[in-house]
Amino acid sequence: MNRRSFMRSAMLFPLAANIMETNALNNLMNSGEKSARMPVLFVGHGSPMYAIEENEFVRTWRKLGEELPRPKAILCISAHWETNGTLVTAMPKPMTIHDFGGFPKELFAVQYPAPGSPELALETKRSLTSVTVELDEKWGLDHGAWSVIRNIYPKADIPVIEMSLDYNKPPQYHYDLAKELSALRDKGVLIIGSGNIVHNLRMVAWDKMNEPEYGFDWAIQANDKIKQLIINNNHKELINYTLLGREVQLAVPTPEHYLPLLYTLALKGTNEPVSFFNDKAVMGSLAMTSVKIG
Ligand code: ZN
Repeated sequence: MNRRSFMRSAMLFPLAANIMETNALNNLMNSGEKSARMPVLFVGHGSPMYAIEENEFVRTWRKLGEELPRPKAILCISAHWETNGTLVTAMPKPMTIHDFGGFPKELFAVQYPAPGSPELALETKRSLTSVTVELDEKWGLDHGAWSVIRNIYPKADIPVIEMSLDYNKPPQYHYDLAKELSALRDKGVLIIGSGNIVHNLRMVAWDKMNEPEYGFDWAIQANDKIKQLIINNNHKELINYTLLGREVQLAVPTPEHYLPLLYTLALKGTNEPVSFFNDKAVMGSLAMTSVKIG
């Protein structure tokens, strides 16, 4: 192959692959074809280091990727994308955002080159009828999304989009908005909320770093209380989490790592099974507790 035809192929083939992906999803979205209803996840993402560390949490993420029905695309609601209004990423090639500081350079070198999906972005915008959604071309995949998804789908061959958290809105709003995403589950879309049920960075037990599963009493109690409410289907109390007492107030000092859980719970159908995984406290004031619905 001469240089010119090589350049031509190099330029055309990725494009061809994108067009094929685009058409596949277009067909999926427009055909009305029903795929099996996809489960919904809430994943506790923990430290960004879990993107590259070997531990039991990432092993569970990998196993999930083998066990879940293969999605056509992923919609992630990450704790790390808060905006004024609701945005969804709509670029064909989202960049890997290293939205943290003070970590080793190997972590900054990680790229997760999954394609985006302008079609799913548009479909998401259409689904959310109660709000005007902005199609975003600037964000990408923050570590709330990629540190988890690169372990679930290491080949980066499933399109991923993100939906932002509107920081102006109360928990009930997020819960209600999430319900409007329900039909996407029947179109092969895996919806993942990524945050942490217990997440208080000001209270991290730096002196207990050698005990990887250490949790303060209040952290364990808050985790148990929230889990019990999930089991009891008591979404009302989970939405009004600020009234759940001191332990939960310490566990959820700011809403952004908790709200993705409400998105996941809102998508639970009547009688759908709920299971937990990675149900452990870490660093004193975090819990990795994760939820699978369906
Ligand atoms: Zn986080």
